[in-house]
Amino acid sequence: MQLNNPKLFNKSSFINGQWLTSDESFTVVNPADEQNICQISEVTSEQVEQAVNSAYTALSGWQALTVDERSEKMRRWYELIVENKDDLAKIMTAEQGKPLKEASGEVLYGAKYIQWYSEEAKRINGDVLPINQKGRRALVLKRPIGVVTAITPWNFPGAMILRKASAALAAGCCMVVKPSELTPLSALALAQLSQEAGIPEGVFNVVVGSQSQAIGEILTMHPKVAKFSFTGSTAVGKKLLHQCASTVKKTSMELGGNAPFIAFEDADLEAVVKGAMGSKFRNAGQTCVCANRIFVHASIHEQFVTKLAEKVAELKVGDGYLEGVEIGPLIEPKAIAKVEKLVKQAIESGARVVAGGEKIASKGNFYQPTILTGVTPEMDIFNTEIFGPVAAIIKFESEEEVIRLANQTEYGLCSYAYTQSLNRMWRLSENLQFGMVGINEGVLSNPAAPFGGIKESGMGREGGRWGIEDYLETRYVCLGNVE
Ligand code: NAP
Repeated sequence: MQLNNPKLFNKSSFINGQWLTSDESFTVVNPADEQNICQISEVTSEQVEQAVNSAYTALSGWQALTVDERSEKMRRWYELIVENKDDLAKIMTAEQGKPLKEASGEVLYGAKYIQWYSEEAKRINGDVLPINQKGRRALVLKRPIGVVTAITPWNFPGAMILRKASAALAAGCCMVVKPSELTPLSALALAQLSQEAGIPEGVFNVVVGSQSQAIGEILTMHPKVAKFSFTGSTAVGKKLLHQCASTVKKTSMELGGNAPFIAFEDADLEAVVKGAMGSKFRNAGQTCVCANRIFVHASIHEQFVTKLAEKVAELKVGDGYLEGVEIGPLIEPKAIAKVEKLVKQAIESGARVVAGGEKIASKGNFYQPTILTGVTPEMDIFNTEIFGPVAAIIKFESEEEVIRLANQTEYGLCSYAYTQSLNRMWRLSENLQFGMVGINEGVLSNPAAPFGGIKESGMGREGGRWGIEDYLETRYVCLGNVE
């Protein structure tokens, strides 16, 4: 891989400011051509322990810095990420597959969290409470929770790490993160830049390995870890929550989704189509907030499907390095098999294929951008996170019916609705049971806003003043005998 800054290409874990190797290795594969990119040194259990201990040791030094000093180092990290964005995007496209332009967008999106929290570090305020007894004073301090461990997924190999590290470091915590074995390179490049930014050794550690269960056990059960933050599937999240219970760790869980995308009869159709394209096909449909069930009012259904099909026909699918490509590969053959099964079952149960519907017969994990109409709540595709470029369309007649159907899922991450009615906007904002509601907007994440889900989509928030709370503890101090 040709990089302007070859130091960003690293192949072993970053622990206490050192690159530590072992005798074992695993392979990183490019999903676009199924070629091996490189071998990565497998982290050992001892090294994971070492990473946790390093983070623990680093706490006092990191917390001893003034907020301005901490903020400046984080700001420098942000600047370096932006300066190196082209290299970071190249690395991401190689291991994850998303088109270069999208990869570059992710790098900048993640960097914005570091920038935002470098400022928020200065606003971690406590409280002084009104006196309720003579001679007493009551204070509330906000303290960094301690060592934070995190496990992150392959679909956003950079941003999911930066969304956590930004708030954790700003709060005064030190961190150990394990990225997916499918996408370790982006995480290691960020570690290199953290070092160049002057973030002290032990404050930000990255462990890479293919033994996710064994690594996860240490990260979720180690007594020196105070908090665990996870982004990934609901099934794995539940397992990790159990593990965290053994030492009562504070946890944040950013889990799966099953987003409804609702187009009402009074919506601006052009905006609906644009929103649906962005929300559905971004990252080849592999985001937790992708429109999973597209509900369209019967009166505009035909027009919408025609317009969406025109746009889908224009999508260029291919290797993310190629100019003009908008849809890259799915991450691995398993992902293709899952999408194929969902589509087949939907067709057998009565759904109609308007576009696509098949794997692309070429090297790499490519699936045709697909539109299905006539999807019903009985189909698996209605109830499962698709994680592929398949628009599943459901026709509806009334607002009451669509709100009931939209909420008919154990997930509660993100939802979208298009309408011109102010009254309806309020009703939707209050009645859609999701942590996030996009009204007339298909892509809504923002560092100042709380990102996260309810129900089985998780707990905790990333972003804004809500995000930093996950890394702080609230301490009550009572001063007695004050004269
Ligand atoms: P996943 O299978 O749950 O994996 C996520 C992470 O957990 C990876 O690092 C994985 O490592 C690790 N892992 C898997 N099994 C483990 C175990 N038994 N113990 C410890 N760690 C384990 O999810 P994914 O397929 O990578 O990611 C897609 C999922 O993430 C989707 O459900 C998506 O909705 C969700 N997601 C949610 C958000 C959000 O903000 N709510 C954002 C992005 C993605 P290996 O890959 O090395 O096995």
